[in-house]
Amino acid sequence: MANNEDIFKKIIAHCKEYGFIFQSSEIYDGLSAVYDYGQNGSELKNNIKKYWWDSMTRLNDNIVGIDAAIFMHPRTWEASGHVGAFNDPLIDNKDSKKRYRADVLIEEHLEKIEAKINKEVEKAAGRFGEKFDEKMFRQTNERVSGYQQKIDTTKARFVKALENNDLADVKQLIIDEEIVCPISGTKNWTDVRQFNLMFSTQLGSVSDEASTIYLRPETAQGIFVNFLNVQKTGRMKIPFGICQIGKAFRNEIVARQFIFRMREFEQMEMQFFVKPGTEMEWYNHWKEVRMRWHKSLGMGDEKYRFHDHDKLAHYANAAADIEFNLPMGFREIEGIHSRTDFDLGNHEKFSGKKIQYFDTELNKNYVPYVVETSIGVDRMFLSVISNAYTEEIVEGTGEERVVLKIPPVLAPVKLAVLPLTKKDGLPEKAREIMDKLKFDFNCQYEEKDSIGKRYRRQDAIGTPFCVTIDHQTLEDNTVTIRYRDTMQQERIPVDKLEFIMEEKVSMKKLLRTL
Ligand code: ATP
Repeated sequence: MANNEDIFKKIIAHCKEYGFIFQSSEIYDGLSAVYDYGQNGSELKNNIKKYWWDSMTRLNDNIVGIDAAIFMHPRTWEASGHVGAFNDPLIDNKDSKKRYRADVLIEEHLEKIEAKINKEVEKAAGRFGEKFDEKMFRQTNERVSGYQQKIDTTKARFVKALENNDLADVKQLIIDEEIVCPISGTKNWTDVRQFNLMFSTQLGSVSDEASTIYLRPETAQGIFVNFLNVQKTGRMKIPFGICQIGKAFRNEIVARQFIFRMREFEQMEMQFFVKPGTEMEWYNHWKEVRMRWHKSLGMGDEKYRFHDHDKLAHYANAAADIEFNLPMGFREIEGIHSRTDFDLGNHEKFSGKKIQYFDTELNKNYVPYVVETSIGVDRMFLSVISNAYTEEIVEGTGEERVVLKIPPVLAPVKLAVLPLTKKDGLPEKAREIMDKLKFDFNCQYEEKDSIGKRYRRQDAIGTPFCVTIDHQTLEDNTVTIRYRDTMQQERIPVDKLEFIMEEKVSMKKLLRTL
């Protein structure tokens, strides 16, 4: 059995081989943590975006979408707090010359202790069998409670140090915990420094301080600065939401793990504006709605969990992540944040313009509170593709096949149309079938190689249906349909094809379940 790291490597190689994801500017040896989506990757990505966009804008008549520019007035980022506080604490190892995020080093260290606890629990569960009371064991076993105490005290000290911006203590914590560099194995660390994650560039031809602008590190601010525009022109009444899909840029210190942490990535964000005092209710509402959206894709409910934040961002009064079990463990895919009136309030201050809502029920003005849902398209993509990647032995033949069991509604190609041979009018018949279906479904025509090989290629890109057109098709208008996951085949009338596919790949149907 391959370990998770091997599987992750295989997934990355598979993404490249089958046109999902390429390293950016590969012919120049690539650009670190920047990726391009290929012919299949962009289809899958577009499907993810469509499912999100439609679930937001069509299922909620109080949510509308916009598309704001990437460049924004520099004052935006002062108001949002990004110029002052959008930093990560970094630390270098003097021997390996490798740079790390101090918070990540500490979190990984704590994860290792957590793993020790889990091992003890597993061992005890095996020893005690059915009588095992896990909760009791965790509380009373000395070794386990000792580990747990270590985790709790380290975490508390770390959170406090970050909150007080006490970088010397963050470093001391790394030393006290004897955390070593994974490459050099030494504890020869530099001091911890703050590093701002925003990319900057110059607007126009004059380069002075005033012309410095930033590539947006989140799409949210494009929504906040348009709050009044949308509210007034759309005659929106609170509570209402504005959503947006777009690129964001962060100069990440440690950019690894493929598309999990990129320097250029895409976000799908929704800001929901509510009456002050009702934000916790809406925060819980959106946590639940967003989790339902994820689970609706059928990738396995056990793959998801919430992680409530101990340390809150500068703008939030409550925050949770939706995490997915990726090959490297549970990781954040989406954040749900209660952002208070921080953003709109600060834009009021910095712009000198009144950004308020007149509540006709209360007969007064206020700055609305905001609940945000923010999901990374690329991380969502990674969860789908890594969950889909399956190596299996085909029953009967003993042959190995690699299949992407992508939720059919998201699959890049829905139907492969395969004439058995290149002659006798079969290609023409295949084209005729495809021409009927291509307006509703992304279809692919393939006539090269044996049917078996063509099936394998379609499995590898996750196509849920293949149909083979043979001589019988010309006589009775039936085709052989083959299902990706079960590999079962059956003969069906061509006319039934649309219905069968619609059942499985219809976004409309899935949206109805939400
Ligand atoms: P992390 O703690 O992993 O750096 P974050 O908490 O800074 O993430 P947010 O600012 O909450 O992330 O951004 C919202 C979403 O945007 C994240 O849940 C994630 O899906 C996505 N995202 C953030 N940074 C990146 C990145 N560098 N590459 C890809 N996706 C990202």
